[in-house]
Amino acid sequence: MNPDLQQVLQRYWGYKTFRPLQHEAMDAILARRDSLVVLPTGGGKSLCFQAPALVRPGLGLVVSPLISLMKDQVDTLVGNGVPAACYNSALSADEKTAVSAGLREGRYRLLYVSPERLVGEGGDGFLARLSPANVTFIAVDEAHCISQWGHDFRPEYRQLGALRAQFPQVSLHGYTATATARVRRDIAAQLGLRDPLELVGSFDRPNLVYRVLPRTSLKRQLQEILGRHRGQAGIIYCTSRREVDALAAWLAETGVRARPYHAGLPDADRHRNQDAFLNEQADVVVATVAFGMGIDRSDVRFVVHAGAPQSLEHYQQESGRAGRDGLEAECVLLCSAADFVKWRVMLERNGEWSEARRQLLRDIERYAAGVGCRHAHLVGYFGERFTREDCGACDYCLGELETVDEPVVVARKILSCVARVGQRFGAAHVANVLCGSEAEAVLVRRHHELSTFGLLKDASVAEVRGYIEQLLAEGLLRQTDDEYPVLALTEDGVALLRDEGHRAGLALARQRRPPKGTKERGPRRSRVEAESWQDVDRELFDRLRALRLDLARARGVPPYVIFHDTTLREMARLKPGSLEALRAVYGVGARKAEDVGEAFLAAIRESAAG
Ligand code: ADP
Ligand code: ZN
Repeated sequence: MNPDLQQVLQRYWGYKTFRPLQHEAMDAILARRDSLVVLPTGGGKSLCFQAPALVRPGLGLVVSPLISLMKDQVDTLVGNGVPAACYNSALSADEKTAVSAGLREGRYRLLYVSPERLVGEGGDGFLARLSPANVTFIAVDEAHCISQWGHDFRPEYRQLGALRAQFPQVSLHGYTATATARVRRDIAAQLGLRDPLELVGSFDRPNLVYRVLPRTSLKRQLQEILGRHRGQAGIIYCTSRREVDALAAWLAETGVRARPYHAGLPDADRHRNQDAFLNEQADVVVATVAFGMGIDRSDVRFVVHAGAPQSLEHYQQESGRAGRDGLEAECVLLCSAADFVKWRVMLERNGEWSEARRQLLRDIERYAAGVGCRHAHLVGYFGERFTREDCGACDYCLGELETVDEPVVVARKILSCVARVGQRFGAAHVANVLCGSEAEAVLVRRHHELSTFGLLKDASVAEVRGYIEQLLAEGLLRQTDDEYPVLALTEDGVALLRDEGHRAGLALARQRRPPKGTKERGPRRSRVEAESWQDVDRELFDRLRALRLDLARARGVPPYVIFHDTTLREMARLKPGSLEALRAVYGVGARKAEDVGEAFLAAIRESAAG
């Protein structure tokens, strides 16, 4: 291990160990070898280029797509005692002059720039000012923005292809959380990387608890999830702006500090809501999926999808915003077969429908209806083998799903009901008939007289809806693409109904039913959750969070710039009594200890005094 890097990590960040591949990624910079680093969200990419900048003399340039993120990153660095600055269009003329002077004097080790400042028309002679500053490496953050195959293509990133020619001696390094090989190849080609060292991390996020629920009653389901996360940060993704506005308003009415966020809001409102979230004036952001890169709160404890995203890549990306600090977080996908139809209609309307899109949709549909470990499914999808038996962090492994006895028999009952109603009704109606509901819609069509009426009356309507979703994903049923989709049998479905073949391996699952006579309880606590709260004094933790908020307000910075939750929990576990002991706590660097150490020690003492 490089002792200089180790020392820098401890002194500036208060970290003792490297996350997987961080050390290798840092070594590439120190060795001036081009590199492409692919780590999942929360994997610690920023440190990969920040730490070596403090070991190597000279200036490291960081290209970053979002000005708001840039400012927070630089604030955090400066708060840790790292000489860093940013240069972008948001700076005033005075600030620009100050940064330019600082560059001339070689005052910075890291400079964050937007792509158009660096190579675009808006460069205003910026490059010329850089040359004396002795640039030693260039880090391109969110490098997938350069690729049209990625999920967030930004045309201004394309211009970064010019960097190689402009800085021939300087090593180039790309960082992304996008795992697909195609995007990786594209990044290397577009940036003109020379024999880059490729480092690709594991995409499993063991601290995330994944759950999938058929969407039955959205508001009730949200209430239940929010009930487990009172006062914590979360994101709720919706598929339409209208739904975002309606849910945010409803949540606010019920006393949740929630804000809407979507492209239809005026810029000022959007920024205000985003800032409120970052500054802990709001706990929940309700957003369309287009939103997200601006959300850099590392303590997001839950991400709910109120509808299915259009691919597992999107789901990975969006749910991955939870738990970036490494602490437990929950990702819930609430979906129904109608979501997939909606995507198809939308993509067709935009002229974006293709075989590839169909495949991507099928893949996420499979995930949603899957009966098995979610972690295993997700990493498997991204080409990784999952070796743990029981992840302890998904609805399947936590025993929240129950497999149905004789799934083929149940499947036949459903298929036959779809046939009986003439393949002219949707999932809700079919479920009602199977459960023996005397709803008006059933009675007026005399569907209570069908032989399939009440065939699954021991199951709830929600359960039967769930089975139908699973049969759709299995390709035994299909749905028409209309506004009110109708269920129909596929060829495979017809074969199964005719008793040809047994469909080995077919499994159907439902949410585990609470034992008779007991009140409904929430889900079991996951292992990650139990472990990360072990021995933590919760009251003290809350007190420290309040202190952090006060300090942040007084300084006009987001709270996480002071300390991450990980550090506060560690303090509330170890209860250090001296500055020295405090400095040994995970995430407390030398500068921070000097700066705010006494305030935190006082709070810990007070809490011990009662
Ligand atoms: P990414 O950009 O890959 O999504 P970040 O760079 O934002 O991830 O890092 C996520 C979190 O992990 C941050 O809070 C960061 O301070 C923390 N972190 C990074 N490296 C380490 C480490 N070696 N030890 C402990 N925490 C780390
Ligand atoms: Zn699992």
